[in-house]
Amino acid sequence: MRIAVIGAGIIGLATAEELVVRGHEVTVFDPEPARGASLAAAGMLAHAAEMAWGQDALTPLMQASAEKYPSFVERLSATSGRSLGHRTDGTLSVGVDGADREALGAAAELQRTQGHRAERLTGTAARDLEPALGPAVTSAVFTPDDHQIDPRQLAAALLDLLGDRVRREAVTAVTRTLEGASGLLSASGEHHRADVVIVAAGLGAALIGGIPALPLRPVWGDVLRLRVPPALRPLITRTVRAQVRRRAVYLVPRDDGTIVLGASVREGGVEGVHAGSVLALLRDADTVVPGVSECEIVEMLARPRPGSPDAVPLLGVVEEGVLVATGFDRHGVLLAPLAAAVASDLAEGRPIDENLRSAMNPWRFTAATAGGPREAAAWTPPAVVDLVGARPKGS
Ligand SMILES: Cc1cc2nc3c(=O)[nH]c(=O)nc-3n(C[C@H](O)[C@H](O)[C@H](O)COP(=O)(O)OP(=O)(O)OC[C@H]3O[C@@H](n4cnc5c(N)ncnc54)[C@H](O)[C@@H]3O)c2cc1C
Repeated sequence: MRIAVIGAGIIGLATAEELVVRGHEVTVFDPEPARGASLAAAGMLAHAAEMAWGQDALTPLMQASAEKYPSFVERLSATSGRSLGHRTDGTLSVGVDGADREALGAAAELQRTQGHRAERLTGTAARDLEPALGPAVTSAVFTPDDHQIDPRQLAAALLDLLGDRVRREAVTAVTRTLEGASGLLSASGEHHRADVVIVAAGLGAALIGGIPALPLRPVWGDVLRLRVPPALRPLITRTVRAQVRRRAVYLVPRDDGTIVLGASVREGGVEGVHAGSVLALLRDADTVVPGVSECEIVEMLARPRPGSPDAVPLLGVVEEGVLVATGFDRHGVLLAPLAAAVASDLAEGRPIDENLRSAMNPWRFTAATAGGPREAAAWTPPAVVDLVGARPKGS
C-alpha cells in the first residue's frame, strides 16, 4: 500500500519504519523531523517506576510496549549500525523524608502486584548502589526491570533507515477525493495520494485540516543536559528518580558522560525554558546528588508533550483510510514500538486486541465512542485547548 505518515517524531518514525519493513511504500512529511517533544525526551523506559494508581488503561500499554523494546532495539541497532544508548540498569527511586518512605513503599507494593521486581532499600543501602547520593536520601526502591534509551540516537537511526522517504514539508490538510480516496495537501500546495494517511504529528495534529478536532493539550517539560567533569565520572550509574518536597525530579545517565536532568510538568507559562522550573530542578537534583552542582550545563530545552485528557494515547481509525496516532504525553518513547505495531496493523486492516483498541480509541471522550468512526459525524468535538505548542520553537 501507499502510506503517508504526517509527523517525524518518535511515533511517526517508528510507525513508518515498521510499515517499510512490512513492505509498504511509505512517505513521511515533517518540516522539522525529530525536533518536537521527542528532542527533549529523557528516554526512560520506566514501566515499573512510573506505575501509578488510576492508570488502569495506561499500565498494560506500558507493559506491552516494554516487552517489545529488546527486539525493537536489537533490530534497529543491527539495521542502522547505530548504538541507541539502550541501558538495562534499572531505576533507583529515592526519598528524603518519612512521607517519601511511605509513598515509595506503597509504590513498591503496586509494582509487585504487576509482577515487577521492586526492592525496598535503606538510605545506606541505596548509597552502596549509588555512592553519589547525598545524606538527605533516607529510603529507596530499586526496580531493575526498567530500561532507558537515547531518544536522539533512536530518532537518528530511524531517519537513517527511512532515508529519502522523509520529506521536509508540513501538511496542511488530510484530503478525500469524491471517489473516497485518501490523501493530503502539503504546505507547498501539492496533493499527495495515499491508500492510508497516518496523522502522527504530536500536538500539530490539532492544526491539520480534514480530520476531526482532537482533544490535545500542551504539557510543557523543561529539561537540562549536564556534562559530568571527568574526575567525577560516572556520577551515577543508573536512572535516579526522587520526590523532593513533593516535586518529582530525575537524573538519567548517558554513556557519553552526560546526565539528563528533568523534567517539569506544566500546563502554562512561557513557551521557552522556564526559569523557575530550571531553578527547582537544579535545587532538587542537588539535594539528591550533590555532585550535580559541579557539572557543566550543556543544554536547556523546553518542549510541549502532546497531552490527552486522560494521558492515554489517541490511536485509531478516524475515518476510512485515515488514522491518528498522537496524545502520547509523558510516555511516547516507551510506547513507540507498541504504537508502531498497532498503527501498522490498523493501516493494513488487521484486527487488533480489543483492550488495546478501546484503551486508545480516539473517540472515547464522546457519546459516539461505542459506534466508532461512522457515528463520529454526530460528534461535537471538544474545543482544542491552547495550541501554542503545536509549532515548538527551536532550542
Ligand atoms: C522533557 C520531556 C521528557 C520526556 N521524557 C520521556 C521519557 O523519559 N520517556 C518517554 O517515554 N517519554 C518521554 N517524554 C514524552 C515523549 O517525548 C513524547 O511522548 C513523544 O516524543 C511524542 O512523540 P510524537 O512523535 O507523538 O510527537 P513529537 O515528538 O512532538 O513529534 C511530532 C512531529 O510532528 C511534526 N508536525 C507537527 N505538525 C505537522 C504538520 N502539520 N505537518 C507535518 N509534520 C508536523 C513536528 O514537526 C514533530 O516533528 C518526554 C517529553 C518531554 C517534553
